[in-house]
Amino acid sequence: MSRARLTLDLQVAGRQVGDLLIPWSDDRNPLGRYPVPVITVSGTPGPVVLILGGVHGDEFEGPAAIMRLARDLAPDALRGRVVMIPAANAPAFAASRRCSALDGGNLNRAFPGDADGTPTAMIADWLQTWMIPRCDAVIDLHSGGKASVFVPCSLPQAGISPALDAANADLALAFGLPVIWQLGAQNDDRSVNAACARAGVACIAAELGGGGGVDPDVTDMAEAGLRRVLHHLGVIASAPPPGPQANATWVELSDPADHVMAPARGLFDRRCHAGARVSSGDLAGWLHFPEDPTRTPVVLRFPQAGLVLAHTARGLVDRAEMLALVARDIG
Ligand SMILES: [Zn+2]
Repeated sequence: MSRARLTLDLQVAGRQVGDLLIPWSDDRNPLGRYPVPVITVSGTPGPVVLILGGVHGDEFEGPAAIMRLARDLAPDALRGRVVMIPAANAPAFAASRRCSALDGGNLNRAFPGDADGTPTAMIADWLQTWMIPRCDAVIDLHSGGKASVFVPCSLPQAGISPALDAANADLALAFGLPVIWQLGAQNDDRSVNAACARAGVACIAAELGGGGGVDPDVTDMAEAGLRRVLHHLGVIASAPPPGPQANATWVELSDPADHVMAPARGLFDRRCHAGARVSSGDLAGWLHFPEDPTRTPVVLRFPQAGLVLAHTARGLVDRAEMLALVARDIG
């Protein structure tokens, strides 16, 4: 039984703003509650759509798109209910960090959660046991955050059931980003996608650039994608023109050996971009050693042809750190 309490009644029509209150007792606030803001817009009976941003607290493009949408959705023009949580791990968002400042928790590695656990575990448990089962679809907006940069892509999970696989793929096509990164059996079962799969609810995540700020073009793509998905589900009557889904590139991460990892601690002098097509042997960058200038730089090459899905946004990198993710085309 969840200890979290939602201050909204989701049966009520119209626009509401409230909080999911997470019990949290510390030195400063011994009988406290930590608020996670929730916005709902409800019209006539219809589908329930949950839109999450800030599952990681340093990824801002999704929360920005959600805040635009939340101001604009009109209850009297809406069929169903849209539940928006723009800073789902609010203690992480407040600190502009990937993980919670209260407990260090990574919400996208916290499912199915724990009703008696840390704040991050309690948020995950509430989503898994209370909120997600009440939904017809879930959109979970991510980006590379401060640490990395992704080509804008949507992430449907496959291999669940034929019906849910198809529903997830349809959400990705409706969202309309140029790249669709299909999650398979390797997907982490502690993620929002996996929580939705367990609940039998359609879901996509999206990776919306990164670097720790807000790119205007990518945020526009995210806002348009949300509207297209709501239109696809019959929640709103009109939507922006279709995205480039007819030409969407479907990719998967099949082999960890495809990625470029840092062989040592050093300065990554990157020579590749997210979204670029690379061939086996192409230059990914050099690793320099400014603290030991006599040391010869390491030449880093892509081991495999594919699409550069993401790269690190960091300069000084540690040994075994991910420098570039390379995805392979499906089909
Ligand atoms: Zn994320």
